Amino acid sequence: MLNTTGFMGKMITFLLLVTIPVAIVAFWLVTQGLLSFEYAILVALTPVGPAILIYNRLIKEMALLSQRMEHEAGAPLFGHLLPGSVRSGLLPVNDLLLAMQQYRRSMQTLFKEAKSHQEEALLLFNMLPEPVLVLDAKRRVSRFNLAAKSFFDSELTENDLTAYLRHPSLIKAVDAALSGEVEAKVVAFGMAGSVPRHIEAHVVKLPGEGGDELRVILTLHDQTVAKKTEQMRVDFVANASHELRTPLAILIGAIETLQGPASKDPSAQGRFLSMMHAQSRRMSQLIDDLLSLSQIEMNEHARPSDSVDMTDVLQGVVNLIKAKATDLGKNLVLEMPENEVTVSGDKDQLFQIFTNLIDNALKYGKEKSAVTISLDKQDKEVSISVKDEGEGIPPEHLPRLTERFYRVDSDRSREMGGTGLGLAIVKHIVSRHRGNLEIDSELGKGSSFTIRLPA
Ligand code: ADP
Repeated sequence: MLNTTGFMGKMITFLLLVTIPVAIVAFWLVTQGLLSFEYAILVALTPVGPAILIYNRLIKEMALLSQRMEHEAGAPLFGHLLPGSVRSGLLPVNDLLLAMQQYRRSMQTLFKEAKSHQEEALLLFNMLPEPVLVLDAKRRVSRFNLAAKSFFDSELTENDLTAYLRHPSLIKAVDAALSGEVEAKVVAFGMAGSVPRHIEAHVVKLPGEGGDELRVILTLHDQTVAKKTEQMRVDFVANASHELRTPLAILIGAIETLQGPASKDPSAQGRFLSMMHAQSRRMSQLIDDLLSLSQIEMNEHARPSDSVDMTDVLQGVVNLIKAKATDLGKNLVLEMPENEVTVSGDKDQLFQIFTNLIDNALKYGKEKSAVTISLDKQDKEVSISVKDEGEGIPPEHLPRLTERFYRVDSDRSREMGGTGLGLAIVKHIVSRHRGNLEIDSELGKGSSFTIRLPA
């Protein structure tokens, strides 16, 4: 609303401003004898009437303008604009109103742009694959992205960080960043849970402009898989060295004996040489297995596409291993259809799977027992099982049998010439063929290893 306080005073000032110059001229004319005093008063008062009219008109137009401006200023930014023009008068009211509406339109554009930038920033923040938390000056979570929400499996309300992460070295690093002692710090810590996790947290102090709400940004990197892989690599090197060291130590011992005490004893020499032969074979087998494992792993992503007849593969393995079975007093039973059963695969690798499985069945089967290999073709898959009549495998070992160097009974495996890599090789070949391996075992009765391959 237009402020009308002192209206009369202002009008009188306006009238005086208009009439005084006219009165001065009129009374000067009187002094010159060109005008009588009465006429001079009349002339001096002539502008009063029009001045009052003009003043009133101006006040009305100003009131209208002020009313419209107040409306524009108070209306929501995206509300309707009032129809443009008003009746024109002494002031350029319409021009002023147009300028005001123009200003409002620019504000709307600016606002839209700012909003879309804000939405883009939020989208980017939410799409970051790593959990990100922003902390305020009081160490409370003021912002978090979607990855953080799924990491903690909950909404992060404005709680102190310790409600979600309590590790002392992390809290210390955050406090140091909040107090300005450090700009950035990386802290690694473990998180207990159904699956323990290894986390690497990057704590970074934000520059001051963010205000109290945005003080520290915390990015969490889940290193569990990397840590596990690293551990597996370390274990693998340790296991492989250990496996090689044992036969190597026996070989060195045998060579020293041959050079010393047994140098003139032909019967001892014979015994030591055959021991050395066995240990060399063991090392060579281990290296072969290690090499084939790394080769299979290298190609695991590339599914083989040759058409392979499984009856041919199984017959080939049985022919190769028959002599060993006979030596061990075991009976190999092959049950399969007469027709071809084809799968897409790599013939050599499929041959290796069944050599390993049948060899294990012979090694771990009871004396004079049978090993049954059966091939079955269903609509969409071909299944081949190798069944023995051995001691069986305690259930707690079943999930770990395909790990490298995992053995239920290490001494027995080594005694039988096993490397502990056979089933790991089987697992990787099966996975390259997009198939699966099932192990069933009953203590005292035997075990069965079933491979299912897409037909
Ligand atoms: P290994 O060379 O020791 O036989 P594998 O990887 O082939 O290594 O097998 C891992 C372990 O699984 C063996 O040491 C053995 O303890 C167990 N195992 C494998 N096959 C059988 C089976 N048919 N019966 C009983 N135990 C078996």
